Amino acid sequence: VASLQPVRGTRDLLAEDCRKFRYISQTAAQIAQLYGFEEIETPVLEPAAVFLRTLGDTSDVVTKQMYIFADRGGDELVLRPEGTAGVARAFINEGMAQNVPVKLYYNGPMFRYERPQKGRYRQFYQFGVEILGVEKPQADVEIIAMAEQFLKKIGLQKNVRLHLNTLGDSESRDAYRETLMKYLMSRKGDLSAESLVRLEKNPLRILDSKDEKDQAVTRDAPVFQNSLNPASKDFFDQVCAGLKEIGIEYFVDDHLVRGFDYYCHTVFEFTTTDLGSQNAVLAGGRYDGLIQSMGGPRVPGVGWAMGIDRLSLMLSEAPAAPRAIAIVPMGAETEALALKLVQRLRNAGFAADLAYSGNVGKRMKRADKIKARAALILGSDEVARGTVVLKDLDRGEQKEVSISEIETALQAL
Ligand code: ATP
Ligand code: MG
Repeated sequence: VASLQPVRGTRDLLAEDCRKFRYISQTAAQIAQLYGFEEIETPVLEPAAVFLRTLGDTSDVVTKQMYIFADRGGDELVLRPEGTAGVARAFINEGMAQNVPVKLYYNGPMFRYERPQKGRYRQFYQFGVEILGVEKPQADVEIIAMAEQFLKKIGLQKNVRLHLNTLGDSESRDAYRETLMKYLMSRKGDLSAESLVRLEKNPLRILDSKDEKDQAVTRDAPVFQNSLNPASKDFFDQVCAGLKEIGIEYFVDDHLVRGFDYYCHTVFEFTTTDLGSQNAVLAGGRYDGLIQSMGGPRVPGVGWAMGIDRLSLMLSEAPAAPRAIAIVPMGAETEALALKLVQRLRNAGFAADLAYSGNVGKRMKRADKIKARAALILGSDEVARGTVVLKDLDRGEQKEVSISEIETALQAL
């Protein structure tokens, strides 16, 4: 029988990966709570319309990356490729507009049909935040500050740079589209085939192209700043001033756009040089038109999502699991005590391990292998005296302790 493999672009996360993933998502959740966010969990499966209507027909995700299929009942479903559209759908369905501002965070797997490589998978994991119902640039500053505090907390702040740009309001975007269009038409011959299609449908997309030919063209493209109307310029100035006020360093990147059509005003990305071309680890922006475009009320939004897979590749280690105490019975007559003791220690909150079988040598080897902190060796003579031998496996010292005082002795290690 041919061995069964995981689906291309998916992988098994083993203990060390899980520890890092958990550390990242739990730290992010703790920080989110400091900023007044509450958790939301939306389904992995959504009606296709949730994404088709919102991400944009020319986005990479919609044109070539969505896992979209008809289920057995004939409904068009999508395995969610991102978190914001699902949260926006829930916001509308649950009538949350009554309670704005609403601050939410989520955490879970996303699916995109990508070309798998290091840091790029078909099932990957995101943690993200959304603020709904705040028009003011303070919300933009707040979520960026939160991202920064999180990156600092997990020790990766020095490995990343914050890139910032504005896409302005829709009037500014229309003006920019025209200017950009003129420029791109003049360089039409240098664009990739894919971007020639984008040129007709959504030229802004070309700025986000991963094709080197396109990137050579866009390097000299006109910048957004020159097309901003006064209100949009003022909004961006306030975001920048707010970031300066609280000491957050950023780099304005005139050509930064984001992969989805729902963005306006602020867009940003934290990037790293540690991961080759998979350089974005956390990205987001403002999406004032999204809720309305999905049939909801006029409610502005701003948020970000981070790639847990990529951050975990950058983490050298995650806090280790608590080390176990190995219980080592010597001979059949102490087996019953061993079973009682392992249970007693676990009830008292110690990680404890009882090898299921084997002689003393084999059990001590297992204690080493699981990196146990200490071993409790149950010899029949000692047990008859009401004691066991406590061996400190780090220091190699051992001593006899009374059975009733084992917890106290372990605490002292
Ligand atoms: P990229 O430009 O690298 O394709 P993106 O712009 O498509 O990223 P977003 O949709 O902004 O990514 O998602 C936010 C974050 O999720 C990214 O910054 C990245 O860290 C992570 N991410 C996105 N796609 C993948 C993937 N296929 N595998 C692993 N992580 C991903
Ligand atoms: Mg992508």
